[in-house]
Amino acid sequence: MTEETSLVCLECGNIFNIQRRKSRLKQVGHIKHLYCISCEKIQPHYEIRDIKEFLWKCVNSDYNKFDEYTKKVLSFLGDSERIEKETGRRYRK
Ligand SMILES: [Zn+2]
Repeated sequence: MTEETSLVCLECGNIFNIQRRKSRLKQVGHIKHLYCISCEKIQPHYEIRDIKEFLWKCVNSDYNKFDEYTKKVLSFLGDSERIEKETGRRYRK
């Protein structure tokens, strides 16, 4: 059994989807080094697993408590319009 998981390049914000075996699924925030087709080199990627769930968790958490990587990923994904579309909730930083 596999599940799709999304990883975000911490350098450029490119989103990369991979299939992982369920037993091998990593925690949200896991950093994996992968080749980024946009940067054209190996870059650290932040595992968000599911964009919608990730954003949902973010709108319901205290922004100030996120680590630097989470903040960076949010700056790539986190324009308010997108978050509102994904979560159906108003979002303010
Ligand atoms: Zn990149």
